[in-house]
Amino acid sequence: MKIYLNGDLVEEQDAKISVFDHGLLYGDGVFEGTRIYNGRVAFLDEHVDRLFESAKVLDLTIGMTKEEIKDATIETCKANGLKDGYIRHLVTRGIGTLGLNPYLCKQASVIIIAADIQLYPAELYENGLKIITAGTIRNLPEALNPRVKSLNYLNNVMAKIEAINAGVMECLMLNSQGYVAEASGDNVFVVKGNKLITPPSWCGGLEGITRNKVMELAANIGLEVSETVMTRYEIWTADEVFLTGTAAEVISVIELDKRIIGDGKPGEITKKLIEAYRQFVNNNGVEI
Ligand code: PMP
Repeated sequence: MKIYLNGDLVEEQDAKISVFDHGLLYGDGVFEGTRIYNGRVAFLDEHVDRLFESAKVLDLTIGMTKEEIKDATIETCKANGLKDGYIRHLVTRGIGTLGLNPYLCKQASVIIIAADIQLYPAELYENGLKIITAGTIRNLPEALNPRVKSLNYLNNVMAKIEAINAGVMECLMLNSQGYVAEASGDNVFVVKGNKLITPPSWCGGLEGITRNKVMELAANIGLEVSETVMTRYEIWTADEVFLTGTAAEVISVIELDKRIIGDGKPGEITKKLIEAYRQFVNNNGVEI
């Protein structure tokens, strides 16, 4: 596999960064996860825009333009003959001292990995996902805003540990006030009648690119879509619940904390949105 590393395409075994890189020392950096379907990179503009926004919040200078990052992305996919898979963009603060001061890091490191995608098993798309509520709350927006897709993902990792130890693959994360924020690596939606709701990102979630597209697709099929503050009340009483994310796409949730949601199987609206989303990503995107 060839990895893009600071302007070069290098073999995987040569793709190395310094132990003094603040991405390693402090999780000081940002990332993106993007999909390529059928030789087309989905939502490339949106992912690159979010990468730059995350970096801006951290006052991290990427040292490349958006166009250069997009070109490098396409170049990396081509070099690996990748037509379907997952692209990981990483921008670390770069090499500095052992101290915290990010301004001593002169040059950010830009890494692009174009790889195969690890999907949830197909069975889970058929039958739905069981999740738990994590005891670990989502980061406070006033501390490290979850809208920043930073290399410090320990908040999510802590929640994921709880999910795995409870025998499930995902979990719901609440914010410090008990409102629903999102899942550890996905956004969350509730269907009730003709209404589709998802928490506003100020409740403590990433503003997902899949989320935004699904809201649009849902409005196109006549659903009344809104960002609404929610507690688990909305989940317990939902007709359908699903998660969205670049890797997961749209996936039904059928149980929360061993309690059945709706009628315990993927609902009709969720199925329609799974299909509409797949249609969209297979027919749009930047051709490589
Ligand atoms: N929330 C979190 C915490 C995430 O890491 C992700 C991305 N995996 C998402 C939501 C979904 O965002 P997107 O649709 O942009 O992939």
